[in-house]
Amino acid sequence: MSSAPANEPTATAEAALLEVTDLVKHYRIRSGGAMSRPGGSLRAVDGVSFRVGAGETLGLVGESGGGKTTVGLSVLRLVQPSGGTVSFEGRDVLAAGRAELKALRRRMQIVFQDPIGALDPRKSVGDSVAEGLRIQGLAPRAEARRRAVEVLDRVGLTAAQAGSLPHELSGGQLQRVGIARALVLDPRLVVCDEPVSALDVSIQAQIINLLLDLQAERGLAYLFIAHDLALVRHISDRVAVMYLGRIVESAPAGELFDSPAHPYTRALLSAVPADHPAAARQRIVLRGEIPSASAPPTGCPFAPRCPDAMARCSEQAPEFREIAPGRWAACFLND
Ligand code: SF4
Repeated sequence: MSSAPANEPTATAEAALLEVTDLVKHYRIRSGGAMSRPGGSLRAVDGVSFRVGAGETLGLVGESGGGKTTVGLSVLRLVQPSGGTVSFEGRDVLAAGRAELKALRRRMQIVFQDPIGALDPRKSVGDSVAEGLRIQGLAPRAEARRRAVEVLDRVGLTAAQAGSLPHELSGGQLQRVGIARALVLDPRLVVCDEPVSALDVSIQAQIINLLLDLQAERGLAYLFIAHDLALVRHISDRVAVMYLGRIVESAPAGELFDSPAHPYTRALLSAVPADHPAAARQRIVLRGEIPSASAPPTGCPFAPRCPDAMARCSEQAPEFREIAPGRWAACFLND
């Protein structure tokens, strides 16, 4: 196992493919209308560190509003982080100039929840897949088109479907196009941002199996962002749980699901249907909603909703620390 920075849920590989350290993304907020003065800040991501090794899948889970998507976008610098570092293949993503960033993005791709939003409605999906090759200057038009058809075939779409416009395809087919757009550039890391949550359950399984097959074939690493924990368990080597802009627990997937160390993880898992009645967990219903990231609670950010909260929890923030080899959590109950 690789050595870990102080607050880091680590990858299993010796040298991390992706290493994120103390990532911060704050948005300035205004307190009134257009003429108002700047107010406070919204701490969407507040000091997140993790590693992903080559060929590994890190699942990033938590409720909406926890900052998962902002982490994924920051890794590719599709949003500009406010602080921290992102290293990919040993290169500093946040310091990269335009040309270097373009080259890095060939190796780091993203699959979005809503593939149609990323497609030109007037272009055939084959042309949209080929576009990445042309933008990167990797192939002339005819060659790019041929390679697009090839990769569309690999994700289960026919040459005829390559000529379709986006609105002529189903949701599952469009997500295959989204995957093909990422794959055509032969990446090493794919950020999958809720890639199946808009699909029917039967189609979800097909897409997950496709992602697993492609990983086995190509040695891809995934940062797999989702709120469906059953899915995440199926696909991930390690899982990191995010709450209010921070990782609160990280562990190998099996260990996290079998013996969660943080009350928030326990609450999330209690809502997952068990494979077997004997394995069913008592449902833990959390009080209220996730607080606003513009006004996080003092002390432990989870304290206002935590069923196990103690007096010190609203005064002190627990350190995110290694509680057992390869297992990290931020909760006083593990002291
Ligand atoms: Fe709950 Fe306290 Fe642990 Fe926070 S530190 S998760 S409030 S028990």
